[in-house]
Amino acid sequence: SKEGGRNQLSFFTPEMDQAVQERALLDHEMRLGLPAGQFELHYQPLMRMPDGQIRGVEALMRWRHPHLGNVSPAKFIPVAEQTGFIAALGDWGLEQAMRQAKAWADQGIEGLRVAVNVSARQLMKQALHERVRELLAQTGLDPSLLELELTESLLAENVEQVNASLSAIHALGVRLAVDDFGTGYSSLAYLKRFPIGKLKIDQSFVRDLISDPDDRAIAAAVIQMGHSLGLRVNAEGVESEDQLAQLRAMGVDEVQGYLVGRPLPAAELTPRLLSDRAG
Ligand code: C2E
Ligand code: CA
Ligand code: CA
Ligand code: CA
Repeated sequence: SKEGGRNQLSFFTPEMDQAVQERALLDHEMRLGLPAGQFELHYQPLMRMPDGQIRGVEALMRWRHPHLGNVSPAKFIPVAEQTGFIAALGDWGLEQAMRQAKAWADQGIEGLRVAVNVSARQLMKQALHERVRELLAQTGLDPSLLELELTESLLAENVEQVNASLSAIHALGVRLAVDDFGTGYSSLAYLKRFPIGKLKIDQSFVRDLISDPDDRAIAAAVIQMGHSLGLRVNAEGVESEDQLAQLRAMGVDEVQGYLVGRPLPAAELTPRLLSDRAG
């Protein structure tokens, strides 16, 4: 409250108190829920342009809690990042995704790359390249079938350490992509410094692509710049045929969104992946 601002005991407003309590609750429930099997990965298809083939999928985490129901990753990932639980959760997700990628390759779905989101905390806390090397050996997955998605804010922190870690991962043959491009760090210098192979244009620029000329200009500029730097460019959040046609005309390399397919459990996506190859 306003008058309580001078008084240390009431430093936490009721709203803040509630947020702190909710975070503690979610953290506690995640720590119980991971070993209890409440977490699962869903996979969203990535459509290669211009031929329309599904050559990749993005792994997205899902949490179904017995009482809280489905909790959005937009809610639990930031909490896991704050509490440090992301190290365990992210490691679990990476291993699951790599096992699934190997299973798809073994089923004859050739060249299907699996993209996994990596948090800053996950990259810095462990030697991630050591863990990736270990999991590649354990699973037998072709390293070029793994792609790690990083945010711009991650690339802005501890530049030397991040660069060492990313270079070691790149040296294993694993691909690196920048997620939510255009929303974070304002300097583009990192595009030269780090071994990035792909930019993912943030959904916020794709949403109003048809009605907003500014968003269209930004998307076109990102695609051109990406290509000039030898990078592939993905557009996320594509929901309409009009958006797809516009992005195709701009020369985008990959699209992702509800128009192409929603995230699904692996078993539900497999038939589509098989028929895509056959067709
Ligand atoms: P993101 O990495 O940007 O993932 C894309 C998000 O957009 C996903 O939300 C996806 O379901 C959603 N999406 C895909 N197509 C469309 C579309 O056409 N329209 C709209 N409106 N949305 C679309 P989701 O699954 O809720 O994940 C939210 C965020 O949580 C992710 O954003 C990512 O930042 C984070 N996240 C999810 N799984 C993981 C994970 O395993 N590790 C880490 N570190 N973060 C994760
Ligand atoms: Ca992502
Ligand atoms: Ca994104
Ligand atoms: Ca996002």
